[in-house]
Amino acid sequence: MVKNIATARNDFPILAQKINDQPLTYLDNAATTQKPQAVIDALVHYYEFDNANIHRGVYTLAERATEQYEGVRQQVAKFIHAESDEVIFTRGTTTSLNWVALGFGAQVLQPGDEIVITVMEHHSNLVPWQQVAQKTGAKLRYVEITADGELDLAQYGELLNAKTKIVAFTHVSNVLGTINPVKKMTEMAHAVGAYVVIDGAQAAGHFPIDMVSLDCDFYAFSGHKIYGPTGIGILYGKRELLTEMQPVEFGGEMINLVTRQKTDFKAAPEKFEAGTMPIAQVIGLGAAIDYIQSIGWSAIEAQERKVTAAAYQLLKDIPGVEIYGPQIGSSRSALVTFNLNGVHPHDVATVLDTQGVAVRAGHHCAQPLMETLGVSSTTRASFGLYNNLTDVKRLAAAVRAAKEFFQ
Ligand code: PLP
Repeated sequence: MVKNIATARNDFPILAQKINDQPLTYLDNAATTQKPQAVIDALVHYYEFDNANIHRGVYTLAERATEQYEGVRQQVAKFIHAESDEVIFTRGTTTSLNWVALGFGAQVLQPGDEIVITVMEHHSNLVPWQQVAQKTGAKLRYVEITADGELDLAQYGELLNAKTKIVAFTHVSNVLGTINPVKKMTEMAHAVGAYVVIDGAQAAGHFPIDMVSLDCDFYAFSGHKIYGPTGIGILYGKRELLTEMQPVEFGGEMINLVTRQKTDFKAAPEKFEAGTMPIAQVIGLGAAIDYIQSIGWSAIEAQERKVTAAAYQLLKDIPGVEIYGPQIGSSRSALVTFNLNGVHPHDVATVLDTQGVAVRAGHHCAQPLMETLGVSSTTRASFGLYNNLTDVKRLAAAVRAAKEFFQ
């Protein structure tokens, strides 16, 4: 069924409540999105009617749960244009990236090899590479940003060389909103023989992603940022690389045969999914993808573009507000990060909360980027498909109220 984006807000029960006697304007979607009733219903239905552990049982409930779990794997594969044995379920983007770093990076890196990442990475796509660099003797090199908050592609090109083994970068910056030219960056990395790992945490819920077209080697994202439950993440990997990649966790379900001395692992994706997986969350993820598709990408993209442009302009019009990241245009995604001159971001966010406006303040798990920007923290308003111009006006009014209160 095709749904209308104009009434999508009504599909999210949490948004109907008041916060501090004010209507809730939820603008922390980059941290986590709210869940539509369809996702909540899918979780409840699973626990009420289908709950059983997957793969192991020959009884009806176990078969039903397994069918749904594996059905979502196929659904995710279609959603990102991949094959279902290239889709691994994890706990979230962080786990996905750790598994690539430890299970693949640590296998292929030699002392003196280089890993290229960017200064705009979330700690999830930075700390694992630091760890692997320390373990293997590889060297970590950083792509810088331009004054506009875009990656410096010329410098990226200069960093790439025959020693570059792995290049890892975010599709969309969770602080600047920058949409990186990931296809071009992947081509450039492949041209020197490097593997490409993309952090898609801030991309997957905002526009379609296509593994065939991107041609990256690994891609990671989280269910909870695309209207699905927490505790479920996705790792895409090219089939031949998943064969090389080693599991990081070991236990039940991922084995063909265990003897006293050694273990024969199953093929991917099973070899990575040790123990009881978050079955309900996988099923909820399937409902979230159905929901996104019932609204449609073009409606979601148009709405978020409109809301982001309006927020950018209204905030820019407030004297003393400094906005970070690219101008409104094709390289900015659905968030606006800013500071109000002389006012601590936590104070801004606290005043906004009194008005029912939920935003995030802090370093956004991107401390090297904060250092590059010369700030210790910022305030971030990030949008989802249910946000509208009323939300944006309430944001701007609340920022003006914070300004009056503190200045
Ligand atoms: N990468 C980026 C760009 C993010 O914004 C986030 C979360 O905010 C993550 C990775 C980590 O995602 P998760 O906490 O779901 O593992």
